[in-house]
Amino acid sequence: MIELKSVSKVFQTKDIETRALDDICLKINSSEFVSIMGPSGCGKSTLLNLIGLLDQPTAGTILIHDTDVSRMSDREAARFRNKSLGFVFQNFHLVPSLNVMDNVELPLLYGRVAAVERKERVKEVLNMVGLSHRMKHFPSQLSGGQCQRVAIARAIVGHPEIILADEPTGNLDSRMGEEIMDILLELNELGVTVVMVTHDEHIASKTGRIVRLLDGKLV
Ligand code: ADP
Ligand code: ADP
Repeated sequence: MIELKSVSKVFQTKDIETRALDDICLKINSSEFVSIMGPSGCGKSTLLNLIGLLDQPTAGTILIHDTDVSRMSDREAARFRNKSLGFVFQNFHLVPSLNVMDNVELPLLYGRVAAVERKERVKEVLNMVGLSHRMKHFPSQLSGGQCQRVAIARAIVGHPEIILADEPTGNLDSRMGEEIMDILLELNELGVTVVMVTHDEHIASKTGRIVRLLDGKLV
């Protein structure tokens, strides 16, 4: 489903060149749950950003469903992201001025889903993450674990095939981290492909495969 062919990413700032990813070849199958691990600065976020079409490789090709996504225009990339990818971040990235329902509904506003169906979908995913009783709350009124559950609901409301999660448990205590992992594992069992960056060996051990990076190379 996701295939990286000899992918490299070089950042050029003034006279400093950083090879963040060096000739990465990686295949991730449909319905896999993969953890990406490695020390700070080894290229984990860069890799996730490339798979998430938030940045483009300097060399090599990225295929998702046999579509070359590595050189799409911004507009094509945005459409692809909205249709096929869900993002979960360490810091939740919720909109503080919107309540839980409205935060979760956001990705659907870019599509053609009718208002009535949008409300249904929002309720369905909030139910799934166990937050049906917090729909009118604002992010500031929720615990960190609850905020991350809202973020996961928002990530899945468009029914993406792939979830990309960058340290989703990084800001949570271990109990809340376990709850978030349980939700991601449940989604994975329903067939969603999950690619997750984590520093936590215990969290990673629950996933199907661990991919390790060191200085931009796969090890
Ligand atoms: P990780 O997520 O594993 O901590 P990153 O993917 O963020 O690592 O970074 C990999 C390397 O690329 C680091 O040396 C980092 O400094 C460099 N890097 C990342 N993003 C940029 C950027 N936008 N400009 C210049 N260098 C960058
Ligand atoms: P958890 O048990 O997940 O750690 P907390 O102990 O932080 O959650 O919060 C318990 C409950 O109190 C939560 O359901 C949350 O919605 C509510 N709550 C927490 N902080 C606030 C707040 N500042 N205003 C309103 N409700 C809050």
